[in-house]
Amino acid sequence: MSWTDERVELLKSMWSQGMSASEIADALGDISRNAVIGKAHRLGLSGRPSPIKKKPNRGATILALTERMCKWPVGDPRHQDFHFCGKTAMAGMPYCAEHAAIAYQPASKKRADDRKVGAA
Ligand SMILES: [Zn+2]
Repeated sequence: MSWTDERVELLKSMWSQGMSASEIADALGDISRNAVIGKAHRLGLSGRPSPIKKKPNRGATILALTERMCKWPVGDPRHQDFHFCGKTAMAGMPYCAEHAAIAYQPASKKRADDRKVGAA
């Protein structure tokens, strides 16, 4: 089959109404769902609301981290919900204020910890 102007208009209107690609394919007839999707994308119609629900925001993944975001790991790296803090990092630091305080403990306490480790 070919895309006549009429079929393209039908595709556009059904797409904008939020019909699924397979519903549109059925309505147009003689066309596959993939062909409908391909045509819609070529027409620039991909901007309709996606039926796929957004994942709840659980901080940042490694891919989403930027230089100005806290890179403090939260949770267990083996678990799916592992993420990074993602709050605004302090200038010149990889962590937010809260996590920088944990990461950069006062030198005196750090030395005490070192001694403990050495004695063990
Ligand atoms: Zn943080």
